[in-house]
Amino acid sequence: AVPLVVAISTSVSAKHGLLIRNRTAFENSRKLTTIIFDKTGTLTKGAFGVTRYESVTDSLEANELLRLAASLESVSEHPIAAGIVRKAKELELKLSEPQGFENITGRGIKANLEGKEFSIVSPGSLKKEGIDQPEGAFRTEDETVVFVLSEGKLIGYIALADEIREESKEAIQTLKKQGLKVLMATGDNEKVAKAVSETLELDGYFAEVLPEDKQKIIKDLQGKGEFVAMTGDGVNDAPALAQADVGIAVGSGTDVAAETADIILVNSNPKDIASLILFGTATYRKMM
Ligand code: ADP
Ligand code: MG
Repeated sequence: AVPLVVAISTSVSAKHGLLIRNRTAFENSRKLTTIIFDKTGTLTKGAFGVTRYESVTDSLEANELLRLAASLESVSEHPIAAGIVRKAKELELKLSEPQGFENITGRGIKANLEGKEFSIVSPGSLKKEGIDQPEGAFRTEDETVVFVLSEGKLIGYIALADEIREESKEAIQTLKKQGLKVLMATGDNEKVAKAVSETLELDGYFAEVLPEDKQKIIKDLQGKGEFVAMTGDGVNDAPALAQADVGIAVGSGTDVAAETADIILVNSNPKDIASLILFGTATYRKMM
């Protein structure tokens, strides 16, 4: 039978837009020692605006670079893609339809356009390809930069900025007061990760993290005796959500993330996550 307190809490929680899929995991909230937040869309708004874009090819105008990138991104659901497409539409650039679109999980996208193969990738991916970053790509610490390649050759870059949510700082202070270590794991670059971490006074961060690394990070912490909660929103977060002692899928997210999570939050607001953990702690204390 479901204990009464839990039954009541579960119905109360439904009203707050949270769905508990795994009660044992929810009960585990009181044992947590560490929480790892994803950055984009959780600690930050996930609403990217293009700040700069530059071609590194003489024969290619900057606006043409943006038009190509926006065309490629027009079928992606990533917040970075939305920012690039929005900018191109503001400038009334005429987009064309990409063929054979593919997500390179946690790294970027790949597709064919107007007879050529293109990709748009993270700094970590560019490094892996053995391509140097063009000078000036990174200027300010709060810009996320993606690189555009045509036939494997770098043709330009696009810088975007996201904003930290107002609620993040308070939520993190609440969790720290509960004695939790608060960390962040992101696929974004080191500079952005460091800036967000400092602003929010996090206990630490992992930058340029590939999807498979998130799971390993959690496993390593668990190996050291930590009890770990992790938030995530994407398909690529599913293995990490499954590995965590408490896996929290946030936002509208993807079905894959939701299926492997213990708890689903409709809003990706970090304040709700803090309440959820306090709530889990209180619920099970009442039973003992
Ligand atoms: P996060 O951990 O911040 O949620 P993701 O794992 O979603 O980041 O993506 C990691 C990185 O991969 C992004 O910072 C970006 O550099 C790159 N990336 C992912 N999807 C796209 C896309 N549609 N267009 C361009 N770059 C992308
Ligand atoms: Mg993500």
